[in-house]
Amino acid sequence: TSYGFREVGEGEKQGLVNEVFHKVAKRYDIMNDVMSAGLHRLWKDAMVASLNPRKDPSYKVLDVAGGTGDIAFRIVEASGRQAHATVLDINGSMLGVGAERAAKRKLSDNLTFVEANAEELPFEAGSFDAYTIAFGIRNVPRIDVALTEAYRVLKRGGRLLVLEFSEVEMPLLDRIYDEWSFKAIPQFGKMITGDAEPYQYLVESIRKFPNQEDFAKMIRSAGFSRVSYTNYTGGIAALHSGWKL
Ligand code: SAM
Repeated sequence: TSYGFREVGEGEKQGLVNEVFHKVAKRYDIMNDVMSAGLHRLWKDAMVASLNPRKDPSYKVLDVAGGTGDIAFRIVEASGRQAHATVLDINGSMLGVGAERAAKRKLSDNLTFVEANAEELPFEAGSFDAYTIAFGIRNVPRIDVALTEAYRVLKRGGRLLVLEFSEVEMPLLDRIYDEWSFKAIPQFGKMITGDAEPYQYLVESIRKFPNQEDFAKMIRSAGFSRVSYTNYTGGIAALHSGWKL
């Protein structure tokens, strides 16, 4: 379906995405609460509960597109401040906000911040026990490349968890959601940053992202086993899981 926004190519896409997150970095956390009506907190809690991180200092998680650290902080806390999380993001402004928040919460010892691209991870094969990515993979121009990289950097027995907006599978909710995302979100974006277009692009990127089943297939194609998913809030978001066996 086309909603009247122009098509963008791969190279241009990453540029637009970077522009959005550079602009919103300082207000990103507030925007998340406003735009998801607080739901992102519940979804993120559920994701980390599903990961159930080991309470062990040797347990290493890579949180890709980690932005301001929401997932990594939860993982470290859930491990009783034992696990180590690497927050990787392509955007230094988002990581900067994340590092400040980590210091305030006294979590810095358990965290490393790395500025890099999900399509080209600067780590050796078999480095991590888990790879998480929340609301990040749809921003990556070549999703298949990012998934192949995820597989490579995981240890055997390692877990992949992807939280992303997905296809709403409840009749009335899908229409309310359309109104919300196509009208309200760009409006909020404009109010907070003065510019609606980048948000229109982000909303459009949600529509273009493959649905639950198709995304599960992509994860399998990257080599993962026992791939499954769970819908949150009628499919507004979905958590996909896979294992490197
Ligand atoms: N995971 C965080 C959360 O759930 O709050 C942040 C999600 S935010 C919607 C998306 C993040 O993806 C941004 O911080 C953006 O900079 C990052 N990103 C976009 N393209 C990327 C890429 N190719 N590699 C790594 N990170 C990327």
